Amino acid sequence: MKIIDIINGEKPSLSFEVFPPKTSDKFDSVERPALQIADLKPSFMSVTYGAGGGTSKYTAEIAEHILQHGVTPLAHLSCISSTREMVRKQLTELKTKGIENILALRGDITPETDLSRSDYRYASDLTREIADFGGFCIGGACYPECHPDSANSDSDIESLKIKAECGCEFFTTQMFFDNNILYNFMYRLLRKGVDVPIVAGIMPVTNAGQIKRICSISKSALPQRFLRIVDRYGDKPEVMKQAGIAYATEQIIDLYANGINAVHVYSMNKPDVAAAIKNNISEILK
Ligand code: FAD
Repeated sequence: MKIIDIINGEKPSLSFEVFPPKTSDKFDSVERPALQIADLKPSFMSVTYGAGGGTSKYTAEIAEHILQHGVTPLAHLSCISSTREMVRKQLTELKTKGIENILALRGDITPETDLSRSDYRYASDLTREIADFGGFCIGGACYPECHPDSANSDSDIESLKIKAECGCEFFTTQMFFDNNILYNFMYRLLRKGVDVPIVAGIMPVTNAGQIKRICSISKSALPQRFLRIVDRYGDKPEVMKQAGIAYATEQIIDLYANGINAVHVYSMNKPDVAAAIKNNISEILK
């Protein structure tokens, strides 16, 4: 099924993200929780591609197994270290496996990134390539707090407009911890004429160690209310987990109440966290 049809549906959509293993010996220990999350019957599941130093080798395989488990997969694909030939090979593999949805990404540029190997500069270049290939519903990433490489939020939104023109049918947001940031961002998008469905990305912070990583990868603002929870419960793992799930649940309920129909949870391969969130909003999802 195409994700655009899921998120444009009548019912609110709740989806989860998993990341693939880095090495083959970890395959089972990643696939097991991924399929346990699939057992929760989310609206769809995304599988990341080489994010945070991970590998991209198993994205298509995990996505295929999720599909065989009866859940629509969204395979991430990044392009900054890829040639056109490599991308076309990936697209052929995804199509052969029956995967119909791709999140088209640039990927982070780090000092190790070999730009000389790349036929692509931006995610919009990859989006155009996938659209030309045909047959996929294409999504892209967006940043309610502005992508760190953008000079300002106007130019950031201009590049989203280009991505939409190249074929992105929806945007999944970077995590945010204050819903007003998303509402302000959506207002700015509409004013610039970017009218593409938004999937709100929510990260349940279930241990204090995640905070440092979140700050380094996403630059998301952390509200006082949230920081107080971490200060008070960060050294009590079970309490922090419960409080993090409650905070994320509260954000999700507020998003649905304000008309955001699609929420994507960065579930970090944790079936218990995904299950707790789904259970907390089970009546809303009916
Ligand atoms: P782009 O859309 O190309 O934007 C990058 C920068 O270039 C921005 O500043 C933008 O404003 C600017 N720009 C874009 N197009 C143009 C243009 N045509 N002209 C001028 N400027 C332009 N990374 C992974 O490696 N694997 C993953 O699986 C992954 N999943 C992600 C999922 C989500 C929901 C999000 C939000 C991010 C994910 N990332 C992943 C991280 C992502 O790769 C990085 O944030 C990366 O730095 C930017 O990727 P992008 O696709 O947003 O890039």
